Amino acid sequence: MSIIKLHDLYFKPFISENEIKSIVKYLAQKVKRDLPKDEVPIFVGILNGCFLFAADFIREFEGNCEVSFVKLASYQGTSSTENVKQLVGINEDLTGRTVIILEDIIDTGTTLQEIYNIFRNKNVKQLKVATLFFKPDVFRKELPINYIGKSISDKFIVGYGLDYNGLGRNYSEIYQLSTPPKMKNIVLFGPPGAGKGTQAEFLKEMYNLVHISTGDVFRFNIKNETELGLLAKKYMDEGDLVPDEVTINMLKAEVEKNANAKGFIFDGFPRTQSQAEALDAFLTEKGEQINGMIALEVPEDLLVERLLERGKTSGRTDDTDEGKIRNRFNEYNTKTAVLKDYFDAQNKYYGINGVGSIKEITQRIAKVFDTL
Ligand code: AMP
Repeated sequence: MSIIKLHDLYFKPFISENEIKSIVKYLAQKVKRDLPKDEVPIFVGILNGCFLFAADFIREFEGNCEVSFVKLASYQGTSSTENVKQLVGINEDLTGRTVIILEDIIDTGTTLQEIYNIFRNKNVKQLKVATLFFKPDVFRKELPINYIGKSISDKFIVGYGLDYNGLGRNYSEIYQLSTPPKMKNIVLFGPPGAGKGTQAEFLKEMYNLVHISTGDVFRFNIKNETELGLLAKKYMDEGDLVPDEVTINMLKAEVEKNANAKGFIFDGFPRTQSQAEALDAFLTEKGEQINGMIALEVPEDLLVERLLERGKTSGRTDDTDEGKIRNRFNEYNTKTAVLKDYFDAQNKYYGINGVGSIKEITQRIAKVFDTL
């Protein structure tokens, strides 16, 4: 899930498809439990927003039921000053029936109040209201809301049937209004020795970005013999990945140090699926996102050659021993390479030929960056 733009506004992921599913299921079960054993209720969905909720709700409802949809429409009465609200769509005789109104969201409650009053005059046996979302801070009516899926703060939401100016109803998740992203963030990706660090140095100057290399941060900590450094050293010396929790917390701290950055180049992070998910969640929280993963693609034989060459001058113990280098590739292939699919699934993967002169490769990256 990433940030979406509808018309002029940006929305960030707020409630996942899975969470919605379990809320809907919980509501359907609770409504069922409260009904007399053989009661056949009529569920009345309030259009347009509730169509997805109603569809999922009735499939979770175990037992017989009827379903109907209504819409509250204003129409001009006979005198020009009259503005009458009319309920369109209900044709059933509701006398003596249990009617349960299904709402996607209740905020001030004004619309619901009108609908509620209309139904109350139809000699029903029982009238109840079930809503997926509820905004307690703005609700101003006296009527009872019998079932609430989730109470949320008074922020505009879209998705799962809810729209902003017509758009957004088809998303499976709920999104919340957000500020426009201020940053342009990229993940510079590729196996060890692909040239990520070298390219990052050029890109950060060209685009005024902050470069975070997790490998560099670890090495800095090792050099300064910090607690983090001591912890990371035993993994790095072997060419193993440092545990996710340590790395993720460190990365977040680095981002927080540069809160006003125009964007970040993440180099050497994320390296595992859970790092990628943590990064997405962390940026989303800030109304920001990864704009693209730019991957430097270089054949492995060439990489080993490059690393051994670099090892002659870099002072990096993990660059001098071919066994350790092979282990880093193994870590890359088993844990990191899958991130290509992760970003590809979001249409954010950009593969670049990483063989050529440094300048050529910078130009290839810049060409992609400019389109993000
Ligand atoms: P690098 O400088 O990116 O080649 O990283 C050197 C070493 O630092 C790796 O082999 C790991 O031991 C450790 N490291 C750097 N970034 C990460 C990360 N995102 N997750 C786990 N370990 C990392």
